Amino acid sequence: MYKLLKKEGMAKRAEFETVHGTIQTPVFMNVATVAAIKGAVSTEDLEQIDTQVVLSNTYHLHLRPGDDVIYKMGGLHKFMSCNKPILTDSGGFQVFSLSENRKIKEEGVYFRSHIDGHKLFMGPEESMRIQSHIASTIAMAFDECPSARADHEYVKMSVDRTTRWLKRCQDEMNRLNSLPDTINKNQLLFGINQGAIFEDLRIEHAKRISEMELDGYAVGGLAVGETHEEMYHVLDIVTEHLPENKPTYLMGVGTPANILEAVDRGIDFFDCVYPSRNGRHGHLYTKRGHINLMNAKYELDDRPIEEGCNCPACRRYSRGYIRHLLKAGEMLGMRLCVLHNLYFYNHLMEDIRNALDAGCYKAFKKNTLNAMLEYDSEEPTERYDIAKGWKKG
Ligand SMILES: [Zn+2]
Repeated sequence: MYKLLKKEGMAKRAEFETVHGTIQTPVFMNVATVAAIKGAVSTEDLEQIDTQVVLSNTYHLHLRPGDDVIYKMGGLHKFMSCNKPILTDSGGFQVFSLSENRKIKEEGVYFRSHIDGHKLFMGPEESMRIQSHIASTIAMAFDECPSARADHEYVKMSVDRTTRWLKRCQDEMNRLNSLPDTINKNQLLFGINQGAIFEDLRIEHAKRISEMELDGYAVGGLAVGETHEEMYHVLDIVTEHLPENKPTYLMGVGTPANILEAVDRGIDFFDCVYPSRNGRHGHLYTKRGHINLMNAKYELDDRPIEEGCNCPACRRYSRGYIRHLLKAGEMLGMRLCVLHNLYFYNHLMEDIRNALDAGCYKAFKKNTLNAMLEYDSEEPTERYDIAKGWKKG
């Protein structure tokens, strides 16, 4: 299913075949939290911005509309009219980050809904059943993501439990995939490496889960407060202990620079809310660095967000017009910015794949990182503050 096409150092260029189509990696997954990308981006739009994989959040879908509703509607692909591969997270991260009064036990986690406060329970089996109902292409294992500040003793105990949970996830997924009423009987399962920033725990855990013959391996628990250098160091020591013939996924990361560095350390899959979240605030990515459309200097700018960009926003509209829409609070302004940013990320990945194909990734990485500094070094003359309006800064 996973075909390694080329390697340059640790960087991998591969193809990953699924029942919902073949994924070219390295790939950026576009985050559709509640089965929609925030900023009024439709499934149809995803085709225009060259999205390969959609990521949806199990915890949110479980609470609303309910995974039973999605199951009765024929699974998430049919529900959101999407024929691309979809990855669902396990719900674990949201259970740990959004819920109050959570209690972690061997069987799973007791917590309260962030919507109405009612009592809920989720363990490995529940997470697998919910994801099987949703019928995503790739399901993620249920794990605990310990705080970046947790001590060695706690992280060791947590990682051991995550390994026991992973075995339970695998057994339950196998059982669910064998049932006649399961929508996607070929659902894949990715395990997640944890261990915070402790080298010994990360390596030991990577070795243990590698023996479990999973469909793919994620590196989790990063981008939760550690420095970029600590994150790159964890990747340096972990990916060499993960199977080369399986996809790797760095969860929740990151900036274009983070992605370029992580590809160089052997990562295939990425996801991050930055392009959509930043886009909704007029913060845009270009090959020459960031621009903030709220800046006064774009008021009379009739150029597209990025010259040469072929996204639906740049093909037709000017910086000045989109800036006006954002300031007027028009949904269209946010939508155009999100479309540009996701297109930028999807095409950055295409450029990365082309560089790997051509065997010149190191040079490509260096040139791309250098080019991105150009706009970032320009000091903004005015900033727009939602509460205070325009101010000199
Ligand atoms: Zn564009």
